[in-house]
Amino acid sequence: MIPPTVSYLTDVFFEPGAAKLVPELLRKLGVARPLVVTDEGLAGAGMVGRLGLREPAVFAGVHPNPTEDDVERGLEVYRQGGCDGVVALGGGSPMDCAKCVALLATHPPPLEAYAFLRGGLPKITGAKPPVVAVPTTAGTGSEVGRGAVMTFRSGRKLAVISQEMIPEAAVCDPELTLDLPRGLTAATGVDAISHCVETYLSPRFNPVAEAIALDGLARGCRWLRDACRNGRSLEARSEMMVAALEGGLTFQKGLGAVHSLSHAIGALVHRKLHHGTLNAVFLPHVLRFNALACPRPKLEAVARAAGAAGPGDLPGFFERLSAELGLPPRLRDLGVTLEELEPLAPLAKEDHTAATNPLPLSVDACRELFRAAW
Ligand SMILES: [Zn+2]
Repeated sequence: MIPPTVSYLTDVFFEPGAAKLVPELLRKLGVARPLVVTDEGLAGAGMVGRLGLREPAVFAGVHPNPTEDDVERGLEVYRQGGCDGVVALGGGSPMDCAKCVALLATHPPPLEAYAFLRGGLPKITGAKPPVVAVPTTAGTGSEVGRGAVMTFRSGRKLAVISQEMIPEAAVCDPELTLDLPRGLTAATGVDAISHCVETYLSPRFNPVAEAIALDGLARGCRWLRDACRNGRSLEARSEMMVAALEGGLTFQKGLGAVHSLSHAIGALVHRKLHHGTLNAVFLPHVLRFNALACPRPKLEAVARAAGAAGPGDLPGFFERLSAELGLPPRLRDLGVTLEELEPLAPLAKEDHTAATNPLPLSVDACRELFRAAW
C-alpha cells in the first residue's frame, strides 16, 4: 500500500524535568518491567537515575553507530529480565538500538531481514512491546522517527523503517542535554538542521512537514551557536531540542543526498565517524549540487529561515556556521582517504534517502560529491 501523504501524531511530552514522567507513562502503557537501553557514558553519568524508575533492567552496551550485535545483546538482557517494554535513553545510537530490541522481541531474526532495502517493511507488525524514547542530545529526531539505522554484520549501514517503529511516546527533557559537550552539541545540532533542510527540499508533497521543517530550521540556526557557547542555557537547549524534534517529525517527507553520502560512509566502521559531523561536511556541497533542481521560492524560504543572505549564499552560510562551531570542513580532516571513498558511491546511490533528493543521484554524482567533500 502507498504511504499516507501526511501522518501525525506521536505523543510528545516536552518540558524541563519531563524525564520524571517516564514511570507514569510506562504504567499507562502497561509496562511493569522496562528495559532501559543506553550507552556506557550516559549510564556512568547517572542518567538512568534521572528517569525515577525503581531498579529497571539496564543494557548500557550500545556503541556509537550501533550494530546488530548490540541489538542481540540488548535482547538477551530484555529476555533475562522478563521485560515487557523498552525505554530508549540517549542520542540516535541508543534510541535506534532500543527500537530494534523492541522489534526483535517479537519478530524472528535476522534483523537485516527487516531493513527497508531488504524488503523488510511489510514484515514489521505492531505486535511489539511499547517504546518510550528519552533523547539526551538535540539532533537525531529518532524519538519521533520511523527509522532505526543499524550497521549489520554484512558491513552495510541500513535503515529499518516502518510506522510501527515510531516510539509510543517521546519524552523531551532539555535538562538532560545541559551537560552535553560542545563538540557533540555542534555535530548533533547540525544533524537536526540538515534534517530540516533536506526534508523541506525533498520533492515529495507534504506541506505540513514543510512548515515544520522551516520552523525547525529557523530555531536551529538561531540557537545552535548559543547552545555551543553556553551549554548551561536552558533556553538554548530547549530551542535546540524543539529543532531536533521538528526535524524528526519531517522524516516522512524523505531526506536527501547529505544522508545518502553520510550513511554510505558509515560502512567505514573503523573510522568511527559521527553522523552529524559528516552531515556538516556534506551539506554545503549537496546544496551546490541541488541548486538548479530546487524551485527558487523554496531556496529563498530556506535562506530566510536560516538567516542567509539569499539562495546563492546558502552553501557559504553553512560552511561559515560549521567553522564557527569548530566542525571540520573536509573529509580528509576526519582521516578518511580518497581510496576508502572509491567503493562508497554505489552504496550512497542505493541508500533509501537518495530517492527524495531534488536532483536524481547517479553513482557518478555521488563520486563527485565525495571528492568535492574530501
Ligand atoms: Zn541525520
